[in-house]
Amino acid sequence: MKVHFWGTRGSLPAAANTLNLQEKMFGVLKGLKGRSFAGDEDIRAFAEKELPFSLAGYYGTNTPCVEITGGTEYVICDAGTGIRDLSRRLASTAGETPHEGPRVFNIFISHLHWDHIQGFPFFMPVYGEGNRIVIHGGHSDMEGALDRQRECANIPLPAKADVSFRRLEPGRYYEVAGFQVLPISQNHPGDSYGYRFEIGGRSVVYSTDSEHQEEGSADESRFVGFFRDADLVIIDAQYPLLDAFSVKENWGHSNNIVAVELGAKAGVRHLILFHNEPTIDDPTLETFLSDTRRYLKIYDPQSTMTVDLAYDGMEIEV
Ligand SMILES: [Zn+2]
Ligand SMILES: [Zn+2]
Repeated sequence: MKVHFWGTRGSLPAAANTLNLQEKMFGVLKGLKGRSFAGDEDIRAFAEKELPFSLAGYYGTNTPCVEITGGTEYVICDAGTGIRDLSRRLASTAGETPHEGPRVFNIFISHLHWDHIQGFPFFMPVYGEGNRIVIHGGHSDMEGALDRQRECANIPLPAKADVSFRRLEPGRYYEVAGFQVLPISQNHPGDSYGYRFEIGGRSVVYSTDSEHQEEGSADESRFVGFFRDADLVIIDAQYPLLDAFSVKENWGHSNNIVAVELGAKAGVRHLILFHNEPTIDDPTLETFLSDTRRYLKIYDPQSTMTVDLAYDGMEIEV
């Protein structure tokens, strides 16, 4: 199974602009200090391995969309603006798809807040006859929300694909595209749902927009069970601890500290901090990641869990 991150910012896109880029270029050029390169490969290796990510990349510009491959059909979590880039990849590889016959896209929606559905009208398979799109989720009004999105005042494009909706019950396993999928209900305004995907003895959890409760709570043991021994957990860690406990309490998101504690308690192999705060710049997010890794060493010195911060284009083989 492979996990590809197409969109990783929370709440709204964080566009890259010329000023961001000029700052990054300034940092790169300043760090060169007369260094010379043997050729193109050498330059690429320098950019990928030696530069800090805050200079070499962006910690996410699109809103949430994650693709999980390894099943018999497409499996996508959320339809934020990242789904447009997935759509472009599908167009560029048309005819090379490993899935036979009419294409089936399973979209697991965490919830219906705008950042998780705003890319749907730009997902080109919606306009292809013969395609089948199944929206899976826990909310009763998924169809109504996507219908309202297509109203004239927003973006009046009629779907040509067969679009259907499948309501899932938390706590029950479903078989979808060869995966065993387990939904869980999460603490978020208007509710949200996380999903655990299992196939061939491997497991990936997608759990965003979830405000976790204090240590020792029933919520904690429910999520430790849900994350138990997972190979990869994508977790909401939008806020630094201080923000989460002050102005942004009850906003429906979690902090990096609770994310690490839950991951370590559950024996997770690889934890990905996700739904990155759109108002925080890349150098600050890089510090946020190193602080989080340092906290894990203090909290559980024996833990072998890897902690990373999601970015658009990140790809992980599980
Ligand atoms: Zn969100
Ligand atoms: Zn939300």
